[in-house]
Amino acid sequence: MNNSSPVHINNNAILVINCGSSSLKFSLIQPESGNTLLSGLAECLSTPQASIKIKHSCKSNNSEQSESSALSAPFCHQQALNVLAKKLNTLNLVKNIIAVGHRVVHGGEQYSEPTLINIDVTNAIEKLAKLAPLHNPANLIGIKACQKDFAKLPQIAVFDTAFHQSMPEKAYLYGIPFELYTEHGIRRYGFHGTSHYFVANQVAKIINKPLAQCNLISAHLGNGCSVTVIKNGKSVDTSLGMTPLEGVMMGTRSGDIDAGIIFHLVEQLGYSIEQIDTLLNKKSGLLGVSQLSNDCRTLEAAMFDKDHPQSAQAKLALTVFCYRIAKSIASFSASLVELDGLIFTGGIGENSSWVRQEIIKLLGLLNFHVCEQANLTARFGTSGNIATSASRPCWVITTNEEWVIAQQSARLLTQESK
Ligand code: ADP
Repeated sequence: MNNSSPVHINNNAILVINCGSSSLKFSLIQPESGNTLLSGLAECLSTPQASIKIKHSCKSNNSEQSESSALSAPFCHQQALNVLAKKLNTLNLVKNIIAVGHRVVHGGEQYSEPTLINIDVTNAIEKLAKLAPLHNPANLIGIKACQKDFAKLPQIAVFDTAFHQSMPEKAYLYGIPFELYTEHGIRRYGFHGTSHYFVANQVAKIINKPLAQCNLISAHLGNGCSVTVIKNGKSVDTSLGMTPLEGVMMGTRSGDIDAGIIFHLVEQLGYSIEQIDTLLNKKSGLLGVSQLSNDCRTLEAAMFDKDHPQSAQAKLALTVFCYRIAKSIASFSASLVELDGLIFTGGIGENSSWVRQEIIKLLGLLNFHVCEQANLTARFGTSGNIATSASRPCWVITTNEEWVIAQQSARLLTQESK
């Protein structure tokens, strides 16, 4: 970092990159306001169907423009970034970019703060791939591609596990031989940290308390789902573990199962390790139980359509889903002596009034009671408290992980330039 040129973040923007194995999400965000100047998604990367979609506001008529194009061979992340870099140039936005902020899934015990990426950090992310084989290698592809296309910009890693590094030993240790933790890092790490942190911060503003005095339980319910308990502003336990497979049931992931099932599948049913991996990560959860879909909208539509052949099965899947989440929320009361309220976020948490109602109905003992009208209204970006006046509050908050990554990257730059 050049110490002689302090960074003025007010008019500047951070390019936020979230790189998956076959997709690349990006946004150009002004860190102070959260204003998004451009955003988009490249999908089906590494296949001939690879395409990229870019949305940006058009200054001349104040409208939003959206453009899609196919990517040519070899359909890779680098090509998608080249298209993005060209677009940023055409729109004259490159001059505003002060850094690239990367979402990195696993930071292990090493990273509890946003980190300026250098060769040591890249090596560490690579080493941590053994704990997140599906995610960290993809994040590295994004980092390396950006280092080529945006070579002059600082690259910053913001880790999904970082917020949970405040968990105490009693929450992160498994009941297995201790040397597996000390020698091999087998412990619970948790994920969705930036989302839980963002929504907790939003609630702190709503209730007009410093985050450091807030006690909350936050349910991030998207394709991946996790529940986190926040004590005095810090994560003290969370439902996802060493990998994003533990905890509550998800779209295609099983969440907690009896580990004995794995032995049964191998010994009695002849499954291979690869088949079990696919079964638990890709064929379970809402999809596995409903035998219809992992998508909450599809399942709700089938459940409400009594003539749908999978109607009962869709209802069963959603019922198991809600019960497991309610159980996880209730279990976290063991971590708190005070509770300001419950937060719902993620695609399902922000939009499905049915799921929220079912979960809250199971939490009467913790004094949570849903207000039906407020619950029906809180959808599609409308946030608010959906509990009755006699209940502890239950907030629906739209998450914005990209904004957190932009804010934290900008803050790191300011610190580094001092
Ligand atoms: P990801 O974890 O991939 O970021 P999202 O947070 O976008 O996923 O959540 C995706 C889930 O949100 C899907 O199950 C989808 O069906 C659900 N969802 C989105 N909109 C609605 C809606 N209006 N009603 C119910 N569920 C919804």
